[in-house]
Amino acid sequence: MFFTAVNSMMFVEWLFIVFILFLYFYFGKRSRVILKELEKEKMTAEINRAREEAMLGSIGDGVVATDKNGAIIFVNKACQEMIAWDDSMIGKKLGDVSLLSDETGKHVPVEKHPLHLCLTKQKKIISTNYHFVKKDKMDLAVYISAMPIFFKGKVIGAIEVFRDITQEKEIDRIKSEFVFLASHQLRTPLSTINWYVEMLMSGDAGPINEDQKNYLKEVYQGNQRMVEMVNDLLNVSRLDLGTLAVQLVPTDLKSLIEDEIKANLPTIEDKKMIINCEVDTEIKGVETDIKMLKMLLQNLITNAIKYTPEGGKIDIKVAPQGKKEYLLSVADNGYGIPEASKEKIFTKLYRADNVMAKEITGTGLGLYMVKSIVEKLQGKIWFESRVDKGTTFFVSFPIKPVIKKKTIII
Ligand code: ADP
Repeated sequence: MFFTAVNSMMFVEWLFIVFILFLYFYFGKRSRVILKELEKEKMTAEINRAREEAMLGSIGDGVVATDKNGAIIFVNKACQEMIAWDDSMIGKKLGDVSLLSDETGKHVPVEKHPLHLCLTKQKKIISTNYHFVKKDKMDLAVYISAMPIFFKGKVIGAIEVFRDITQEKEIDRIKSEFVFLASHQLRTPLSTINWYVEMLMSGDAGPINEDQKNYLKEVYQGNQRMVEMVNDLLNVSRLDLGTLAVQLVPTDLKSLIEDEIKANLPTIEDKKMIINCEVDTEIKGVETDIKMLKMLLQNLITNAIKYTPEGGKIDIKVAPQGKKEYLLSVADNGYGIPEASKEKIFTKLYRADNVMAKEITGTGLGLYMVKSIVEKLQGKIWFESRVDKGTTFFVSFPIKPVIKKKTIII
């Protein structure tokens, strides 16, 4: 009995030892497998990280990343070559180290920096108008594309890629110069055609019959369209080349607008349109570049007339906006701008489908010029429009713009 009890206890102990040994070998083997797997994963992660770093590092474009508070967390090698930024920038706030300037040489505040804007607006921001000002006072024209970084639906930072576009800008300049020269040379023969066709139509070179008169009218109208196009091209190239220097002089806005209305009176009467003009008398001491403002008014007013059907109404208003600005609005009740066209409306040569379908002539250069003028005069432009209800263009300008000359040219 006693031995049986002792034997069964020994058996239990033995069983226990076997069990412990089993656990030891089983988990020992298992943990060695897990450890190996962990090491493998660590190595793969390190290889991936090294590969990503090598990829980002060898990109020819500059890459800068920030966290969601705008603190720099990454700069690649190209930044070192292009703007002399290295790893010592990591941890610094973008606002404290930003080297961005606009085309006039003015420092761009951090709120307007594409990296900051893409964080606040939570969308991609692209800019081609900025320069990086390097310490040695040379500047670099750059194309910047900034994107927010999302993780599980939340913005955790932003990444910016920038590219040196000095060469593209130079090619653009050469193209503008060519357009300028070509359009300048085209003006003289076009004026000659105009002059002789007018002479033929008036019968000064001998009598012409009704059919001949109609053919000449077609030639005259076609030539007029070419003259308009050439003038637009000439003005666009002047604005692009910056050869139209801003000259601020005291200006009487009311008479400037009234002159533009007068120049369009034949069409306004032809289309039986009503046109109103109101300039608030409180606005005093306006300074602007008369040539540029005339060009702007001419484009906005002729567009309102062109893109409004017979019997339509146009309201032109100038009202104070705070103490230092005024707001010009040109409203019509015409064809409107379709939703799909709104984003592209200030692009060179763009025309919306609804007016193209009506065969209204145009060059698609007017609003591009208007926008460029607004930028040169330190203003802002926007519009509201509904198809077949009408369009209002708004332009705000400082009463006394401060035009800074670009000081740094590469
Ligand atoms: P253009 O009038 O010579 O075509 P613009 O650059 O002045 O060129 O205008 C570009 C396009 O914007 C026009 O073709 C037209 O589609 C649209 N647009 C401009 N102004 C108006 C307006 N007041 N009403 C409706 N559409 C307009």
